[in-house]
Amino acid sequence: MNIIYLVIPCYNEEEVLLETSKRLKQVLKRLMKEKKISEKSKVLFVNDGSEDDTWHIIETLCWESDWFAGINLTRNCGHQNALLAGLMTAKNYADAVISMDADLQDDVEAIEAFVDRFLDGYDIVYGVRSSRRTNTIFKRTTAGWFYRLMKFLGAEIVSNHADYRLMSKRALERLAEFHEVNLFLRGIVPQIGYPSTFVTYERQERFAGKSKYSLRKMISFAFEGITSFSIKPIRFICMMGGMSFLVSVFMLIYCIVQHFMGNTVSGWASLGVSIWAIGGLQLLAIGVIGEYIGKIYLEAKHRPKYMIEEMKGLEEKREEKKPDTEVE
Ligand code: UDP
Ligand code: MG
Repeated sequence: MNIIYLVIPCYNEEEVLLETSKRLKQVLKRLMKEKKISEKSKVLFVNDGSEDDTWHIIETLCWESDWFAGINLTRNCGHQNALLAGLMTAKNYADAVISMDADLQDDVEAIEAFVDRFLDGYDIVYGVRSSRRTNTIFKRTTAGWFYRLMKFLGAEIVSNHADYRLMSKRALERLAEFHEVNLFLRGIVPQIGYPSTFVTYERQERFAGKSKYSLRKMISFAFEGITSFSIKPIRFICMMGGMSFLVSVFMLIYCIVQHFMGNTVSGWASLGVSIWAIGGLQLLAIGVIGEYIGKIYLEAKHRPKYMIEEMKGLEEKREEKKPDTEVE
């Protein structure tokens, strides 16, 4: 029977963890009873450098029962990196891994459908939310724009799919081969290309606590998504540069003609405006190019994306003891 691991990144989630663990345990229990998953299945919490009691709660849960396991990261690495830490750890123990948020916004009842699709032979199952009713209007509209923009820019991305998904062991092994530091899992997973399908679910309200994605984090996440999957913005800037150059050529001809016709009137205003316009355009272009160069810089460093401080509740990998070879 298949071992399924549920991977849950947690950042300051002390208010929801107990409820989440209780509900997940119920679901796992039921699936085991129905003989759909192995008894070795677990919930793996990843503590993403929380400042509250999150890790303490995870430790207690691990200590109390075999249903839970935990990873403690050395500091806050961000949702995507924490998720990756969980996925890469879980793939060593499980046949398939389901990732979801800690706040119960992802309907736990959909887990059974995920497992069914996996048993049907799919390697990747995307959880797609059927509506965004529970989101604020602001989040709903901006998210809509974001998906449209991403598609327009040519990134393959599943609309209305967050990070609630199942991936088989072999899909995770392919994912491990992506060495990028600028991590945008939603864009990478569709590139793996194994048989995939989706399950729809109703997105709930956050069970308790506040969203850990501030507006600043959201904007940087969207920006990350766009710049790590598309070079269209750079081309667009180039086109704009070319066009403004063309305009300036016409402008020059116009000025020369006007000069010889004796019509040179003082035109400070238009001059001032165009200096600013062109200056702005150049700065914008340099900024975009800088963004890509920054990315190249980060990729070239091959820095680790996360560092694990401690693991709980996972079978210890037996370390081969080196025989004591005494020198002399
Ligand atoms: N999260 C994380 N690290 C962060 C921010 C968020 O691990 O730096 C986790 C968080 O605990 C939650 C999930 O990512 O399990 C999604 O975050 P949240 O629910 O706050 O985002 P929203 O649903 O509002 O987009
Ligand atoms: Mg949430």
